[in-house]
Amino acid sequence: MTMPLNETHDPSLTSWVASANAADTDFPIQNLPFAVFRRRGSAEALRVGVAIGEQVLDLTAAVQAGVFDGAAQRAAQAACADRLNALMALGAPAWSALRLALSRLLRTGAAAQARLAGALVPQAEAAYALPARIGDYTDFYIGIHHATAVGKQFRPDNPLLPNYKWVPIGYHGRASSIVVGGTPVRRPNGQTKGPADEQPAFGPSRRMDYELELGFLVGPGNALGEPIPIARAEQHLFGAALFNDWSARDIQPWEYQPLGPFLSKNFGSTLAPWVVTMEALAPFRAPFAHPAGDPAPLPYLDCPANRSQGGLDVHLEVWLQSARMREAGQAPLRLSHGNMREAAYWTAAQLVAHHTAGGCNLNPGDLLGSGTLSGPGAGQNGSLLELTRGGTEPIALPSGESRGFLADGDTVELRAWCERAGARRIGFGACSGTVLPAPAVAAA
Ligand code: CA
Repeated sequence: MTMPLNETHDPSLTSWVASANAADTDFPIQNLPFAVFRRRGSAEALRVGVAIGEQVLDLTAAVQAGVFDGAAQRAAQAACADRLNALMALGAPAWSALRLALSRLLRTGAAAQARLAGALVPQAEAAYALPARIGDYTDFYIGIHHATAVGKQFRPDNPLLPNYKWVPIGYHGRASSIVVGGTPVRRPNGQTKGPADEQPAFGPSRRMDYELELGFLVGPGNALGEPIPIARAEQHLFGAALFNDWSARDIQPWEYQPLGPFLSKNFGSTLAPWVVTMEALAPFRAPFAHPAGDPAPLPYLDCPANRSQGGLDVHLEVWLQSARMREAGQAPLRLSHGNMREAAYWTAAQLVAHHTAGGCNLNPGDLLGSGTLSGPGAGQNGSLLELTRGGTEPIALPSGESRGFLADGDTVELRAWCERAGARRIGFGACSGTVLPAPAVAAA
């Protein structure tokens, strides 16, 4: 079900792009994630690139250099586009052929070095766009420690609703307001109402928060009415990217009943530029099981491969830098550090199997958000709602400021990486966004 290890994962491989060999790079030759980019400030066409060290390999330029052949050539041709959707639609054998070719072309001693040197653009000069045309976005809620902590704030005695351990909870989100990492996000206006307020107020959210998530991007889709069995689910996933699904915690409680969150969630979600492929993640798979005493997944959410390697061992961090910290030259503060494996109650394969079990069709480029990934321990929380206990225990910043929720000018940066004995460390790049003031409310 998951991708097997092959020569592209060999930890001893090095690249002729020297920065890819630095021990702490997110983008060694074993990673090879995809993004859509152009030179910053230019009117160049958007195009697909692959990260190698501190450079982006321009795939269109590489195709023009004539370095590919066979299945890799066909896959690279599909990546000569302004989004990844056509490549995503091709499926795992094509992605794998392209990855193998890229690995061989970028290796130390590769004959193609001279022909590819002109196809490299420094990441410091790149501006990114969304990696895919995201037709549909689904937001799951697989972080059980997050769901428990949030539930406790509303229902201290019964934090998890009875369906949680049976159904991968999700709802259909908003795709139009998903932006690429680095794009500022505006604080939303909306209705808020406290328990003691006679009537709701309208204005800027005062409890704006981030949500640390991993987003899974769909590869080949399925026909309407034809579910994807769990054993084949991962063949329908192209890769994963960091995802900040911003939330307005004060707008949500008033508006979400009976149909679910609306303005509290639809003002913006930030997807990182770099998509790490499922094949690159192959060395970092982990067994999956529900804790002893919890219900076993129903048969359509269970298969041997999902049990033996459905999990993902991904370290996750959130960093914050306020405007004042930035002006004073103070480095961002790390707010949390957790791991996907501990945070997630369901696997990516289970999300695909459940999403399509009723017949719903997925399309290439669709996005499945994991939901906030909080670990079980202190300092592993994927949101301020949990870290500050609903704003009642604010975090002290090195600038002397404190934060219960986000302030205008705050930059939130998500980071993630995989590290394991016998494998080369790979990273996801950063997913950052700065909060802008809410739009002015027009007078009546
Ligand atoms: Ca979410």
